[in-house]
Amino acid sequence: MSKPIQAIRGMNDCLPNETAQWQQVEEVIRKTVASYGYSEIRFPIVEFTDLFKRSVGEVTDIVEKEMYTFEDRNGDSLSLRPEGTAVCVRAANQGALLYNQQQRLWYQGPMFRHERPQKGRYRQFHQFGVEAYGFEGPDMDAEVIMLSARLWQAFGITEHLRLEINSLGSNEARADYIRALVEYLEQHKDKLDEDSLRRLGTNPMRILDSKNPDVQAVLEAAPVLSEYLDEESKTMFVELQQRLDAVGIKYVINEKLVRGLDYYNRTVFEWVTESLGSQGTVLAGGRYDGLVEQLGGKATPGVGFAMGIERFVLLLQTLDVLKEPTSTADVYMVAAGAGTDMKSVELAEVLRTEVDGIRVVSHCGGGNFKKQMKRADKVGASLAIILGEDELNNKQVTVKNLRQHGEQETVAWEQLAARVSAILELD
Ligand code: ATP
Ligand code: MG
Repeated sequence: MSKPIQAIRGMNDCLPNETAQWQQVEEVIRKTVASYGYSEIRFPIVEFTDLFKRSVGEVTDIVEKEMYTFEDRNGDSLSLRPEGTAVCVRAANQGALLYNQQQRLWYQGPMFRHERPQKGRYRQFHQFGVEAYGFEGPDMDAEVIMLSARLWQAFGITEHLRLEINSLGSNEARADYIRALVEYLEQHKDKLDEDSLRRLGTNPMRILDSKNPDVQAVLEAAPVLSEYLDEESKTMFVELQQRLDAVGIKYVINEKLVRGLDYYNRTVFEWVTESLGSQGTVLAGGRYDGLVEQLGGKATPGVGFAMGIERFVLLLQTLDVLKEPTSTADVYMVAAGAGTDMKSVELAEVLRTEVDGIRVVSHCGGGNFKKQMKRADKVGASLAIILGEDELNNKQVTVKNLRQHGEQETVAWEQLAARVSAILELD
């Protein structure tokens, strides 16, 4: 036998027992976005590389070293999407959704980043995100945060997540701050590591994110962003806090929260958990008022977030709050004896037509009565509908209730749908 081909490292299958868990999460996502009036948008997985260079930023980790970039047959540089915000702006602008309009959109799907795979960090992962366009006030910042908080509430895990917020200020304020930060760090170059030295010339604010204790020690006396904030950003940030207070959402202000993408301004936020080790950021977002214009649209404010679905599912598994996988059938059709098999399949079709929402599995592949009943048990069916030779002659079936101690009754074919739906309480 030849060696089986494996999946690509960092790209995972989702097997049936796990898809059941994902579906629980997806259902909560759908209900939550619907309850705030958001519409779904779907866009391609591959885009021109320039889209990400011009939005996420040329000197960010994502564009510098994490993108799956390749040449199309005609020589265009294309990339698998590493995130959704830039693509959503591209699609909304192209689809004429932005001009003088307000939009509340959400998306979901796979993203690709060439990172070192580990728990909570993969090369193909999935994000759920929302993006609101055309709203410049902190009411919308608060709304997307409230919406995200509902995801935790739905599973009763709010206490396991911490909301961190910060304001990056206007572009001008941030430029002033970056100048001051670079000036300060230039004087302490000897204590910076290689990564930070590189960032000093490319993306200095990312140094604030450094996990290196020596770098953090230098940062202790560094200028802080909040002292450089413009008045408007300050006011907005205070108003956001008041709005969160008003709806009882707790938060901490993290002055070092800067986010790794270039397009953010003013409000940024993250929901972080201690339950997943170092990959603790489950959801992250913020405001990006300049992005639409930067990508060639008419200036339109934007705010949104993206959640890593794998991390959310991992957290829910860790906290053990997902429902047990349910059965895949309500009814299992057992056919034993000459000529019973075709009729049994026919009765199954009648049930599917007449009983809305019923799940019926027909036994396939032959085998004796005992083997078939075992299968009924395995798929978790509530009822076995048995057609033997006697039943076939009398135009009846035996309905065996697998939940109620195997209680059984004889039912005429014409009455089957009504009786089954009464027992299962489906109608
Ligand atoms: P991190 O700091 O963990 O690398 P990030 O800042 O790169 O995260 P974003 O680009 O803001 O992440 O993406 C939003 C969310 O998507 C993250 O908070 C996380 O839950 C998820 N995410 C990002 N990268 C990955 C990945 N490689 N594997 C799984 N989930 C990811
Ligand atoms: Mg990252």
